[in-house]
Amino acid sequence: MSDTAELAHLFRVLKAPAAARSLPKLAERARAEEWSYERFTEALLATEAASRASSGGEIRIRAARFAARKTLEEFDFTFARGVKKAEVLHLAQLDFLHERENIVLLGPPGTGKTHLAIAISIRACLAGHRVAFATATEWVARLGEAQRSGRLGEEILRLGRIPLLVMDEVGYIPFDPAAANLIFQLVSARYERASMIVTSNKPFSGWGEIFGDEVVAAAMIDRLVHHAKILSLKGDSYRLKDKDQATRPPPARFEPE
Ligand code: ADP
Ligand code: MG
Repeated sequence: MSDTAELAHLFRVLKAPAAARSLPKLAERARAEEWSYERFTEALLATEAASRASSGGEIRIRAARFAARKTLEEFDFTFARGVKKAEVLHLAQLDFLHERENIVLLGPPGTGKTHLAIAISIRACLAGHRVAFATATEWVARLGEAQRSGRLGEEILRLGRIPLLVMDEVGYIPFDPAAANLIFQLVSARYERASMIVTSNKPFSGWGEIFGDEVVAAAMIDRLVHHAKILSLKGDSYRLKDKDQATRPPPARFEPE
């Protein structure tokens, strides 16, 4: 019989609390079922690995700094217009991430763009990928700050090591040329290297106005959509779902091309 105090010490040194907790039951089962040493070792290590993978997911979700916590399970596909459940569930299997492709979510306010962007990203966190979330305005602020302190290249490189970057709310505020240029640099640097999920309440035809320059906007859209899945949400804001029909404003006019 081994010394339990010594075992407890070794588990602490190895930082393997899940394995420590599962040891008594696993050992008992291994004895009863006459497992090989290899099978027992594998079962013990697998317990620790599974526990680390799930807490790692939680750490990555917190590190991503999502605006809210939203899941695909909470998303009502019967209310949403313009997206198919199967299509979204397929995206959540993360092939796009492995292929370094993008997702662009377009549609009027309240139709679930941010919700879906976060829900797919959470799947990525749980599957072991790092994610960084911010609004377009926040990305501009962050990159602008890096630029002012002469670290723009370094910052873009650092962000390039994060496999999924979410840029929420492109179009809520128009950009000045300097801001537009920063976003263009970020999008270009990630092109075919790392994925982005971008949301916008403006169809691509309105992006020239957002970025103050049709040529910059066209070049950006070109890079963004060359390898991308584009989802165009339509219809009413989910926020008005239970409101009296009579008091509803007319649906926002939105014509994605
Ligand atoms: P958008 O980013 O398109 O403006 P959001 O994703 O922020 O819209 O959605 C607004 C609110 O409505 C959020 O709280 C979101 O969770 C909820 N919501 C939107 N669409 C759905 C849906 N189809 N099912 C469940 N909740 C939804
Ligand atoms: Mg949003």
